Amino acid sequence: MLSTPAFRGPIDLHTHSRESDGTESPSELIRAAAAVGLGTVALTDHDSTAGWDEAAREATRVGVTLVPGMELSSRYHGKSVHVLAYLFDPTDQALLAETTAIRESRRSRAERIVARIARDYDLTWDDVLSQTTDGATVGRPHIADALVARGLVADRGEAFAGILRASGEYFEPHYAPDPLHAIRLVRAAGGVPVIAHPATRGRAAVLPEDYLAELVDAGLFGLEIEHRENTEDGKARLRELATRFDLAVTGSSDYHGTGKPNRLGENSTEPAVVAEIIRSGRSAVVGGA
Ligand code: AMP
Ligand code: FE
Ligand code: FE
Ligand code: ZN
Repeated sequence: MLSTPAFRGPIDLHTHSRESDGTESPSELIRAAAAVGLGTVALTDHDSTAGWDEAAREATRVGVTLVPGMELSSRYHGKSVHVLAYLFDPTDQALLAETTAIRESRRSRAERIVARIARDYDLTWDDVLSQTTDGATVGRPHIADALVARGLVADRGEAFAGILRASGEYFEPHYAPDPLHAIRLVRAAGGVPVIAHPATRGRAAVLPEDYLAELVDAGLFGLEIEHRENTEDGKARLRELATRFDLAVTGSSDYHGTGKPNRLGENSTEPAVVAEIIRSGRSAVVGGA
């Protein structure tokens, strides 16, 4: 019989490093996870696996179990849908081609957003680059950090509520596949897909049931229900859907270092769910117990 590698709780399956829009390096993130007593942590940078190797080395060193992962961008009828992907093969060519396309689109889109902002505010693309690690997935959070550095806003939250808001005059979206394609790509790469924070816009904005059924057929594994940005009525709807479609339920922090108020370990996932992710993923967890 196959045995599942040992891993310890508490478990946090959703975090970001500076390889996307977190504020800590992958090793700093792993040390922060160890410092708050987490036994298992997933690194899930947006559209990138660039932090996996560094995080793995540090996880082995400090005795935390790392679940290598990613938060893959997708879009459904104009609304952003984030797909957490765990333990896929990071060399899978189809998935790599897609994440490369998304990151390139994110970068040119960020440059255009900055060009529009620069008509009204003292901000340059170099300001944004100086807030971004080389090779990292660029997003609005880096533009926010540049606005903070220029003294134009107090923090990322103020930037997102104002200059960077999706309904604002400077905004444009980046390329992203639809969720069905995203989930198929993740499964084909041996990964385990979970929809991230599916109810941040409330019950009425949760994906429609017939579409969710298609995602389940394509291999959707679970829903991230315990997340601070899911609304309470949204969570109730997600629990109904998880029961109906026999989906796993996860809970996590979506830690971004100092970039968001979310704290490591503020939500967690049942060990049985993590054991199933480990059994069905093509890549292995690293380090730990
Ligand atoms: P983008 O993908 O470039 O459109 O930017 C969206 C990212 O910004 C998400 O990954 C969030 O983590 C982050 N974000 C959204 N709203 C806020 C906020 N109010 N404060 C800090 N970060 C935010
Ligand atoms: Fe983010
Ligand atoms: Fe997200
Ligand atoms: Zn996230």
